[in-house]
Amino acid sequence: MDTIKKFILIANIFLPFALMCQDFNIIPYPVKVDKHEGFFELNSNTVLNPGEDLYQKAKQLKDYLDPATGFDIKIGSSNIQSNEIILNINEDLNDLGDEGYTLEVGQNRILIEASDQKGFFYAFQTLLQLLPEDIFRHAKVEDMEWHIPNCSIRDTPQYEWRGLMIDYSRTFWNKRITRKYIDAMALYKLNKLHMHLTDDQGWRIDIAKYPDLTEIASKFDMSYHEPEEREGFFSQSDIKEIIIYAEERNIEIIPEIEMPGHSSAVFSVYPDLSCKGDKMKIHPFTLGPGIHQEIFCAGNDDTFVFLNNVLSEISRLFPSKYIHIGGDEAPKDHWKECVKCQQRIKDEGLKDEHELQSWFIKQIETYLSANNKTMIGWDEILEGGLSRTATVMYWRGWEKEVPEFVLNQGNNIIMTPTSHCYFDYTYETISTEKVYSYCPIPAGLNKEYEKKILGIQANFWSHLNRIEPEMDRQIFPRLLALAEVGWLKESNKKWEDFTLRLNNHLEILDILDIYYHEIGIH
Ligand SMILES: [Zn+2]
Repeated sequence: MDTIKKFILIANIFLPFALMCQDFNIIPYPVKVDKHEGFFELNSNTVLNPGEDLYQKAKQLKDYLDPATGFDIKIGSSNIQSNEIILNINEDLNDLGDEGYTLEVGQNRILIEASDQKGFFYAFQTLLQLLPEDIFRHAKVEDMEWHIPNCSIRDTPQYEWRGLMIDYSRTFWNKRITRKYIDAMALYKLNKLHMHLTDDQGWRIDIAKYPDLTEIASKFDMSYHEPEEREGFFSQSDIKEIIIYAEERNIEIIPEIEMPGHSSAVFSVYPDLSCKGDKMKIHPFTLGPGIHQEIFCAGNDDTFVFLNNVLSEISRLFPSKYIHIGGDEAPKDHWKECVKCQQRIKDEGLKDEHELQSWFIKQIETYLSANNKTMIGWDEILEGGLSRTATVMYWRGWEKEVPEFVLNQGNNIIMTPTSHCYFDYTYETISTEKVYSYCPIPAGLNKEYEKKILGIQANFWSHLNRIEPEMDRQIFPRLLALAEVGWLKESNKKWEDFTLRLNNHLEILDILDIYYHEIGIH
């Protein structure tokens, strides 16, 4: 066989593999990566050189690099102009959006450029993942060489909403656990933490005007002997701490206050706000119905005084422009029997209880809009008429026509269907591969609607898995697959390659003391 033929044969065998195999263990994989020969050595002489206004960002990178390396990396300009990491704001990179960045790693110099602070933060996450996994240790690792392979990376996310919802009502997850999750989300470039703070099983946020909400409704009824760590609440100063911690890591906190259903916790304190007026007891989900019949009385004006007061405090506390108001699984039986609710239907000229729900939600949205907030609701808010400005969170995976219906109406949508994004489901039902296979754009969708799909989110409901290792195993490693779905275009996703990278990331999760599900990873 002559040399050329031999080359062609080898190329035929290896080229498809070479094209398929990505070079670095980065999750989510960057949009464009070119690998070069050689490496940059991070050492005790490395200098971090921030451009104007980037000192704080340089400090953030130093805080990531110092503990495991044991170096005290200097911030400033380098005299000898060698072995430096340069941060530079580049307005020409506007086309990459505020989360995009470029990263050039050469023998003696790393250049990180972005047009916004957020882009620098994501470049740091990529840089960390280019280093040995031991960089994630919190104490000095002896006898390590900290090499970063030479490369050019240009990166930007596909979707602006890459989220995780944590259910704090069924089980209260404290500040430490919340910070752990924020750190993990940041590492995988997720940017929205949706906190489900109220439900039938507990009210988890202090409202100054109604202190009894947390005094009474954050605790399970004593007769059920619930361990203390599963109940509790966040003070407003706890929330401020969490918001700052998250902001420093590019994560926006979106609060959810459930209404008009899933509100029994409120009725354990203020029974008169429900149609029946029964004083509810709070008990774990496993001891009661999944969906309670109790509901806010839509015919009682006090309901709206209460909710507006609560939302007023929530609006001031959370800087996010979004507030989630639930709106799901609201049984209408009590509304059908309630004199006040039937009077409301008559007075407002509504057709039925579905239109009453729509009217209820519109009252709330009007209030939120006056406070410059955008309302998000679970997809049942479209029943009885959807307002033009609400953002819909699609969850009922079996209602296949919902996304197109919402998009046709011109509303924004966030994709969190039960089919792929419910991380309380078992791995037998939703494997990591199934999560990875999810395409947020419905088949056959008109191109012009694609930008109305804000992104995707994993939802973790905590009624079944109520201790931290179980929570971790439900969420990891599926969250890494979701992170890549939110970051990459469908055509750039490669499952086989992802599994190779995932193996290395399991070592990182070990270092970070995060449990993960081991069976069914592939
Ligand atoms: Zn009523």
